[in-house]
Amino acid sequence: MPKLKCVCSEVINLSEIPSPHQYLMISDQKYDNFQGLVDTEVLYREMIITVKCPTCSRLHIFENGFDNPAITYQLES
Ligand SMILES: [Zn+2]
Repeated sequence: MPKLKCVCSEVINLSEIPSPHQYLMISDQKYDNFQGLVDTEVLYREMIITVKCPTCSRLHIFENGFDNPAITYQLES
């Protein structure tokens, strides 16, 4: 997914690696399964990719991977 169009019309470029717009989340329970030295690739696969719009700060959370629609959260005004 090289680009994501936000509801605010911003086109977020995700082709840059690492991306300044992409964040990685993991639940506290899943993170607790990791102990000692960690294989970062295994950890990465457990993470939920989140994209933050640089214009409106909406969060687009891809809980089921980039192949499925994101859940979008908007800041309260
Ligand atoms: Zn936006």
